[in-house]
Amino acid sequence: MPLAAAIRTIPDYPKKGILFRDITTLLGDARAFRKAVDELVQPWSGSKMDKVAGMEARGFILGGAVAHQLSAGFVPIRKKGKLPHKTVSISYELEYGTDEMEMHEDAVSPGDRVILVDDLIATGGTAEGAIGLLRKMGAEIIAACFVIDLPELGGAKRLEALDVPVRSLVTFE
Ligand code: IMP
Repeated sequence: MPLAAAIRTIPDYPKKGILFRDITTLLGDARAFRKAVDELVQPWSGSKMDKVAGMEARGFILGGAVAHQLSAGFVPIRKKGKLPHKTVSISYELEYGTDEMEMHEDAVSPGDRVILVDDLIATGGTAEGAIGLLRKMGAEIIAACFVIDLPELGGAKRLEALDVPVRSLVTFE
């Protein structure tokens, strides 16, 4: 079964006019979940990766599985105020306004090879924030990986302009 068929689409969520792509159906399907993780990992199997960074909250599920497959550590990037130790923070763009995301300051070391994982890239604002945080601490971003890309919103181009290669498994126009 193609991965796209395992993703549920919810019209008018979280507000009218938005088509929400829901990966909980993919996560709940053992074969589709394995296939998605295998495909996310595939370009880096056999190469050394220090860390996988995942964005709260769906990036934790996918990123944790990807880190395990690559024998890499996992770095949670969280909304402000959720991490218990010393953090670095960055503000990032939302559709309306800005928010802040944080990472533990010792989560990566300078020169660490890191891939970033999330469920979906839309405008790329969230991923750009995470890249900023990781680079602030000296990490080398090898790639940003998503199950879903919404290319009309320009996120992949935005990350490529930051010299971050983008990998996505399913595209919805
Ligand atoms: P961006 O910052 O505009 O690229 O939005 C991406 C972020 O919003 C990611 O963390 C996604 O999890 C979340 N997101 C935006 N639209 C959707 C959707 O349709 N389904 C699931 N997550 C979404």
